[in-house]
Amino acid sequence: VKCIGILTSGGDAPGMNAAIRAVTRAAIYNGLQVKGIYRGYRGLVTGEIKEFKSQNVSNIIQLGGTILKTARCQEFTTPEGRQIAYDNMKKEGIDALVIIGGDGSLTGARIFAQEFDVPCIGLPGTIDNDLYGTDTTIGYDTALNTILDAVDKIRDTATSHERLFFVEVMGRDAGFLALNGAIASGAEAAIIPEFSTEVDQLEEFIKNGFRKSKNSSIVIVAESELTGGAMHFAERVKNEYPQYDVRVTILGHLQRGGSPTAHDRILASRLGAAAIDAIMEGQRNVMIGIEHDEVVYVPFTKAIKNDKPIKKDLVNVLRELSI
Ligand code: ADP
Repeated sequence: VKCIGILTSGGDAPGMNAAIRAVTRAAIYNGLQVKGIYRGYRGLVTGEIKEFKSQNVSNIIQLGGTILKTARCQEFTTPEGRQIAYDNMKKEGIDALVIIGGDGSLTGARIFAQEFDVPCIGLPGTIDNDLYGTDTTIGYDTALNTILDAVDKIRDTATSHERLFFVEVMGRDAGFLALNGAIASGAEAAIIPEFSTEVDQLEEFIKNGFRKSKNSSIVIVAESELTGGAMHFAERVKNEYPQYDVRVTILGHLQRGGSPTAHDRILASRLGAAAIDAIMEGQRNVMIGIEHDEVVYVPFTKAIKNDKPIKKDLVNVLRELSI
């Protein structure tokens, strides 16, 4: 391998820039040439590719978003589109790819690597933390902290008005942000897709009148078809318990932004450097993760479409501490 291409794809996440910087600098340090591919797989198909030197990634470690931009690319999901992508890669002299993205992006990488003889290395970049084989993903810690910040503010107004708030957070079909966001913000309950029993808990909690000692209540709801979202619960409670003053806040895309936390910057830096180590060692078609503070190589087939379990003790902690 002489020249690597790097791209960010799918949903953006804070820390992607720190990862771009790490991959670029580690590659140059190891004598490799680096090309930045813009707008995810779309840039590979349209040939939006530019050589990256060390200074192209200066002063970006602290920035949210991704300087390479990100996009969803329908064409790459077809064999014809991937052929064009491969031809462009060859034309640019790129002989390995580093893909920073979520489940969908790594699925694309797995398929591409199967069809063409191209070493692909994935980095887990998503606020949802839903990739198997890594303790956390790039962006997750920042999003969690953004949620805390928002919920702390909602708590002030909820307490002043003695209201019940349903706060919807992101996470696709994973409840990591909702559950850990609830624990960290001292919320009363979390509704997550993994454990439907939480809905029973909510019922019980509402029937008990939210305990007399509390003058505000916050329930964090994971966005997901499986939970139905915060609106759904708010409507139900409003209909059945008109005595409660219910409000809904959907945090939305603000969870995707912001300067990455120290945790995410360090994670992205380690993973980015490890991606280049992996390429130098001749690894291919693996996602780089960190488990128990050690870098691990996770085959794509294992990292994707493999449900990452939520620790049951976290559910118990929330329940015990919100009495
Ligand atoms: P994320 O990486 O955040 O999960 P998406 O699911 O939107 O985001 O995937 C990002 C991109 O990855 C898609 O727009 C597409 O180009 C590519 N991709 C996703 N799934 C596949 C697939 N099955 N085959 C080929 N490419 C795919």
